[in-house]
Amino acid sequence: MNITYDLHIHSCLSPCGHEDMTPNNIVNMAYIKGLDAIAVTDHNACAHVRVVSELATPLGLIVVPGMEVQTREEVHVLCYFPTVEAIEAFDLALSKWKTTIKNNVKAFGHQTLMNHEDKVIGEVEIALILSVDITINDLIDLVNQYKGVVVPAHVNKSANSILMNLGFIPQDLNISTVEIYEKSDLNDRLLKGFRRIMNSDAHYLEMIHEPEYTMTTESKSIQSIIDYLSGKGQL
Ligand SMILES: [Zn+2]
Ligand SMILES: [Zn+2]
Repeated sequence: MNITYDLHIHSCLSPCGHEDMTPNNIVNMAYIKGLDAIAVTDHNACAHVRVVSELATPLGLIVVPGMEVQTREEVHVLCYFPTVEAIEAFDLALSKWKTTIKNNVKAFGHQTLMNHEDKVIGEVEIALILSVDITINDLIDLVNQYKGVVVPAHVNKSANSILMNLGFIPQDLNISTVEIYEKSDLNDRLLKGFRRIMNSDAHYLEMIHEPEYTMTTESKSIQSIIDYLSGKGQL
């Protein structure tokens, strides 16, 4: 079946995410737009995944647990998991590679934590804008341990992309799908054989995609989306 998606959305937990990107606003906007599946992928953090999932599930909106990790190479990598428990366990394991430097709110912005009612319940203290000191290879191994899948983010962007920072996608990385940034040119030759997805990378509510991009999955479920991103089924 064809499902519509936007699997790269930042909440107010990301220092660069707008304060209007609250759990309820994101879920309601995606629901109003008629998207089948979304992912909230904050920088190096997943503390809003559980609340967003719990708000979205009664509406029939799928939330794929996700995170946008910035690796030691300063490459942005989207990591998706089959369950909230899996991403939370992954996050715990990842924390030993995370920085201990505190966020500079004035320079980078707030890293706001909210509850089911969009009430502020705290702030993440470490600077999420800094790289996690893990290589792409080690990150992929770790994600796979928790039955997740990685998708290099905005590969055709001039900053924080695998093509810009490494020059190519190493074959041994075991990557099936890449994320294309719609506003940049594309080097088709370097991306031959990869499945492609297009997300909004929304930092503002109005940036969340209309249901214009689809993927063909076995069913309307998180696992089917993970399977698609893992390269299973027909291209
Ligand atoms: Zn990014
Ligand atoms: Zn992003």
